[in-house]
Amino acid sequence: MLYRTYGSRATLLTNRVLSYPLHSFVHLATHEALHVHRAQNKRKIPYALEEALAEFIASNGIVQFCEKYATHALSAAKSYRDVTENIARAINNLVDMVHKENHFDMHSHKPYSNLCKHIEDLVKRARNTCLRDRFEFKVNNAFLIRYRDYYKFYFLIQEIYNKRKNNDIGKFIQWLFDRSCGKSEEEVFSMLTKFSKVDRFGATY
Ligand SMILES: [Zn+2]
Repeated sequence: MLYRTYGSRATLLTNRVLSYPLHSFVHLATHEALHVHRAQNKRKIPYALEEALAEFIASNGIVQFCEKYATHALSAAKSYRDVTENIARAINNLVDMVHKENHFDMHSHKPYSNLCKHIEDLVKRARNTCLRDRFEFKVNNAFLIRYRDYYKFYFLIQEIYNKRKNNDIGKFIQWLFDRSCGKSEEEVFSMLTKFSKVDRFGATY
């Protein structure tokens, strides 16, 4: 809730946000900047794609920002990105578990409760950051419903970005906007899955 409140681009900076360490502050600002950029582009893309893209841009943005302007915060930025990605993987795995079984009983499912605990432990360690403010809830069904959209596309986006010959992030965002505009979440997911399986991209890509 705090993240939603403090993280909204319509909200003025608060003392809480200003107390975040540099890398966490830049993460939050970059995430919100992607939403602003998408809105200014007037492109309608699936919500889950937009959230995951904002997360991807923010997680990589903090590392690039610290490499260039704040090397003292670089290792904190890298570990922040890694923790975010570990939480993302765990959330995606939990969502998969629930989807795969017809009558999923989360109370007697050991791998499920282990992963929930794993997420809670990761969040606990992310002291005084927007990660903690965003995820500091009991991990249960309500948590998954709330956050599954954040990372459904994250690793697909990462895989495709890493395969591109051109690593200009602005062009990559534009490429994703152009291809996803007006499509449904499922259409975009299957299109990106196909792209992620291509080894080499043609000149237009
Ligand atoms: Zn967002």
